[in-house]
Amino acid sequence: MKYFSLNKTAPVATFKEATIKGLAPDKGLYFPEIIPKHEPGFYVDIQKFSNEEIAFKIIQPFIGDEIPVAELKRIVTETINFEIPLKTITDTISSLELYHGPTLAFKDVGARFMSRCLGYFVKNNDKKITVLVATSGDTGGAVANGFYNVDGVEVVILYPSGKVSSVQEKQLVTLGNNIHAIEVKGNFDDCQQMVKQAFSDKYLNEKLFLTSANSINVARWLPQQFYYLFAWKQWTDKNHPPVISVPSGNFGNICAGILAHVSGLPVQHFIAACNANKVVPDFLSTEKYEPKKAIATISNAMDVGDPSNFVRILELFHHQFAELKNTLSSLSISDDETRKTIKEVFEKENYLLDPHGAVAYLALQNYLQEHPQQKGYLLETAHPVKFYDVVEPIIQQKIPIPESIEGILSKEKLSTVMEPGFENLKEFLLSR
Ligand SMILES: *Cc1c(COP(=O)(O)O)cnc(C)c1O
Repeated sequence: MKYFSLNKTAPVATFKEATIKGLAPDKGLYFPEIIPKHEPGFYVDIQKFSNEEIAFKIIQPFIGDEIPVAELKRIVTETINFEIPLKTITDTISSLELYHGPTLAFKDVGARFMSRCLGYFVKNNDKKITVLVATSGDTGGAVANGFYNVDGVEVVILYPSGKVSSVQEKQLVTLGNNIHAIEVKGNFDDCQQMVKQAFSDKYLNEKLFLTSANSINVARWLPQQFYYLFAWKQWTDKNHPPVISVPSGNFGNICAGILAHVSGLPVQHFIAACNANKVVPDFLSTEKYEPKKAIATISNAMDVGDPSNFVRILELFHHQFAELKNTLSSLSISDDETRKTIKEVFEKENYLLDPHGAVAYLALQNYLQEHPQQKGYLLETAHPVKFYDVVEPIIQQKIPIPESIEGILSKEKLSTVMEPGFENLKEFLLSR
């Protein structure tokens, strides 16, 4: 498979090149030249296949012969080695729980897949590759965990001191080995600025082989299709495909679902559920795309004012607005509504949502009220314990800590404290 830049002024790239580069040289997002189509029978008979077989079938056309079959099968199997159950909440609403991975958020899937592909591509390089990321929360943990112990890859993660939750910080700073956490005495913008300067510094890039693990990377975007198929496998009423509600920030997750749908997956309708950051809901009602500054909300992983993956969605619909509106709706949900939803669903249905899942729940419930014949599910993108500071006061009780992270909470913190400023980062990178 070849990938072209959506800015259309860079050469086409292979999967390997697109994975290593992340963004095309003209700053465009990479997009596959061909969207694979699968035969209807595959979806009808999906129960006959194991999750590993489904995932392999979906991803293989995007990679072609760039990774040998046996190797790709291993990568796929390691990527999805945790359960992704579709749980019934009400008669009409189910929840696809994407938080049973090592860092309790859906980003585990993309990060695990990408790290293993990169590991394969750099296996015989004499120069180690350094993945450099700035994180304000979830991305860092998923990337750190995904790349942990991958040979030939060093990871350097910058995070703002005191501005990530304690669970999130522990996920960054307790791994050690090839994972280096830098605690920057500043805010997220300081971290991002330092990383940006590193990528454009000529000397540094001659000395080191630097890459990012940004969510726009094709190797993070494409494997997110997997769980939409796993949900279909668990969907009982195959004659009435689901309405799917996705809590959206950068729109990578929902874009993967739409891609799976264009390839043949039966879906009734997509809902992009947003918080107060409503560039896309506004676009769908006015046809005008106007990026805004991000607004802080309690579903903070979705605080994005200019969603980077939205151009990929436009491309999937050939920039046809009418076609897009037929398949996709988008709704903005306030923090008050989000809190109220967490409380109501917990009390009435005995199901605990995290703030991101709650945004998607309410958007779906509103949609189904206007479309009473239909049923759907939301993507529950993070475990509520990751946002205990928001959730616990609402439900007025403690959330039990899942076993999988109990261990790290008592582990020793391994981080380097750094003042903001690119020179400090440069010195650190060159001294290792
Ligand atoms: C990243 C994230 C999102 C948003 O996903 P996008 O692909 O950026 O739209 C939603 N929920 C959680 C918990 C996240 O970490």
